[in-house]
Amino acid sequence: MTSTIREISCADDYDPNSMPVDKAREFISRFLSPIADTERVPIRSALGRVVAEDVPSPIDVPGHDNSAMDGWAYRHSDLVQGGPITAMKRIGTSYAGKPYLGNVGTRECVRIFTGAVMPAGCDTVAMQERVTENAEGVQIPNDLKAGQNRRFRGEDLKAGAIALNQGALFTPAHLGLAASLGIGEINVYRKLRVAFFSTGDELKSIGSQLGVGEIYDSNRYTIFGMLERAGCQPIDLGNFVDEPEAIRTAFERASACSDVIVTSGGVSVGEADFIKQMLNELGEVLFWKIAMKPGRPMAVGKVGGAYFFGLPGNPVAVTVTFYQFVRNALATLQGRSDYKLPPYLKAKLTSHVKKLPGRTEFQRGILTMTESGYEVKTTGDQGSGILSSMTQANCFVVLGTDVGSVEAGQIVDVQMFEGVM
Ligand code: AMP
Ligand code: MG
Repeated sequence: MTSTIREISCADDYDPNSMPVDKAREFISRFLSPIADTERVPIRSALGRVVAEDVPSPIDVPGHDNSAMDGWAYRHSDLVQGGPITAMKRIGTSYAGKPYLGNVGTRECVRIFTGAVMPAGCDTVAMQERVTENAEGVQIPNDLKAGQNRRFRGEDLKAGAIALNQGALFTPAHLGLAASLGIGEINVYRKLRVAFFSTGDELKSIGSQLGVGEIYDSNRYTIFGMLERAGCQPIDLGNFVDEPEAIRTAFERASACSDVIVTSGGVSVGEADFIKQMLNELGEVLFWKIAMKPGRPMAVGKVGGAYFFGLPGNPVAVTVTFYQFVRNALATLQGRSDYKLPPYLKAKLTSHVKKLPGRTEFQRGILTMTESGYEVKTTGDQGSGILSSMTQANCFVVLGTDVGSVEAGQIVDVQMFEGVM
């Protein structure tokens, strides 16, 4: 059951000024309702989408007992015990797509290729490397078990068994599986429409000249990329100055055209005051200080009918908060039932890392595999404005709340970026 954002702020363990990462994830997941709208698409267009219904297999896969090897098909009970081999008579060939249709008599065998239908009466295949053919016939080794190298009809999927599960991400393997069943179209959930914009007086778009103290708006590009990768339909609303009317217009436009709104900047203490007031008029929004670094301030809630994630302005904090909170929320809203954040790996830290206890840190790391196992080093300066650290990294080094500085040689948790960055 989903609760409203207001109910969440009444929970016993709710503390907006020091919200642990796990709690924040849990609170967010409690108020999300997946979209229900579906569309029917050709399977190639379903790649990266979410399957909207259980799809049973219309056929047995494979459709016949067949050979797992290039070799010789025979009846196991025909083997003459007491010696290493049994001589048999070759009576035909079964190719993939061109079966042997005759009968197989006692001590007769059929040349067979991988995927070819097992001739009626044969139950075992001897791989060709183990068989010789000479004037006395085909020399079949006696040491194979009955049924060896035979694939059974329906061993992959039985007709009627669920082949595609509702809530699954449709991957290249699903594409192949659907094709193997002769399924050309499936129902998927509609793409999530995600509107995004940046706030900040200092922001300029690419193509304009920078004045003193101005910077290019990079978050809109990072966010665009992450939304694309997450299989959403991104809607770029541009950047807006920190003025109540500009921001109100932005939120009204965003909530009118989207399922989800993602913004960056303007949620830190002081800056956020007028935004807070406005969002409470337009919807229900909670402002949190998450006990993490980077990414301390964050806002979540609803604006009109749209879910809202107000990310901090710092470029690295944007990627970290998106990855830790927004990405999995989007997966839930997309209807995915199989999504999990990538599990932590254990790796040996190769450099000293400075940290104070009290917050979870997501440092940017480079993970490598060595002869003695995983090793990880950080990308150097971990300032939350240093976006280049994200481009060099392939993982987060996750240092828990209670952890302080960590010496080289110690084992730490690592979370791979996995398709997001
Ligand atoms: P804020 O959270 O708005 O206080 O922003 C924190 C820092 O992130 C400031 O240095 C901003 O200039 C920077 N910043 C905010 N928004 C963006 C953006 N869209 N692109 C690049 N940097 C940004
Ligand atoms: Mg700002």
